[in-house]
Amino acid sequence: MITVAQALDHLFDLADALPTETVPLRSAAGRVLAEPMAATRTQPPFAASSMDGYALKSVEADLHAQLKVVGEAAAGHSWDGTLGPGQAVRIFTGAPVPDGADKVVIQEDVTRSGALITITDDPGPKDNIRPAGVDFTHGTIMSAPRKLSPGDVALLASMNCPDVPVVRKPVVALISTGDELVMPGETPGPDQIIASNTFGLAALLENAGASARILPIARDSHASLATVLGLSQGADLVVTIGGASVGDHDLVADVAADLGMDQAFYKVAMRPGKPLMAGRLGGVPMVGLPGNPVSAMVCGTIFLVPMLRAMMGLGRAPASRIRLPLAGGIDANGPREHYMRAIVVDGTVRSAGLQDSSLLSVLAAANALMVRPPHDPAHPAGTEVDVIAID
Ligand code: AMP
Ligand code: MG
Repeated sequence: MITVAQALDHLFDLADALPTETVPLRSAAGRVLAEPMAATRTQPPFAASSMDGYALKSVEADLHAQLKVVGEAAAGHSWDGTLGPGQAVRIFTGAPVPDGADKVVIQEDVTRSGALITITDDPGPKDNIRPAGVDFTHGTIMSAPRKLSPGDVALLASMNCPDVPVVRKPVVALISTGDELVMPGETPGPDQIIASNTFGLAALLENAGASARILPIARDSHASLATVLGLSQGADLVVTIGGASVGDHDLVADVAADLGMDQAFYKVAMRPGKPLMAGRLGGVPMVGLPGNPVSAMVCGTIFLVPMLRAMMGLGRAPASRIRLPLAGGIDANGPREHYMRAIVVDGTVRSAGLQDSSLLSVLAAANALMVRPPHDPAHPAGTEVDVIAID
């Protein structure tokens, strides 16, 4: 058996870089920026007031000082004169600060009577002015690659970048295998169940930036599996689910080999999971996941999401972990790395309940995986453990 890290290395070796495309900014959220972007302007382009108040000379901003209001500056409407001694300009947030002024006294510190203001509260040392370029200047670079957050999208808009070069979304074909499976919404026979894995994986992978295609369910025959694999053309990654261990009806490895797959079959020392197949079929990476629903989802988190991130140029890195203290004691772990369904609440982590790999209700109640190293001894409450967020 190989370790999770070794299996992941094999998968990274299969992860080809994807080409780039240009998309409108409106469609850029969650995509991976492919090239550094330079600001095409300076923000703010002028010294701007950060408050509603009165622009004046700081040397004249004394308590009880009286000044004459000679004009008004609002956002989008500058006051074009130059402030003289003893003068103030009514100013609003976002307005350009007039020439000759170097301070904005907030309106709460001022009493106004006609065109005269009196400073009635100590205005303090703050100038309430945002200098030109304090956010960014013309040519400031947003680095790539990066997965564009909502904040990144706002920054690109402010930088006046209406179109953005991004990595093309990896297209993932998802194939459920099994005579017992029907699609959600269909009426299962007495010995059938609903295919859940492709739906959970599609959600997981799309959340990671992929475009998922759920193909028809492949039945447990060579012909059916070969036919459905043939439908995966155009995908950047083909994922089969189930039929990957050594039972009589576990055909994925056989069929893929018949179709010319250059394949490796790994027994990975992990729980849930264990059987994992990977290779190239017609030049396209293919991964065979175990069929048990929680195994498929955990393998999706631990193997497929990092693989997709590598394809999108985000580097070869495993799912990120944090350290959290246990809410209660846990028993010793066995010989395989265990990804326990767990619940993080108030900064501590605890088991989500029964750890059987078929229990989607437990997975759905979990918001994290608690990672137990092989042969990890029992631990009391308060011990720090590795945790991977899954919501
Ligand atoms: P297998 O690896 O094909 O032996 O499947 C292991 C277990 O997972 C069996 O109980 C299957 O019925 C179940 N299973 C396999 N594929 C799916 C799927 N797509 N959705 C839900 N359960 C599945
Ligand atoms: Mg099966």
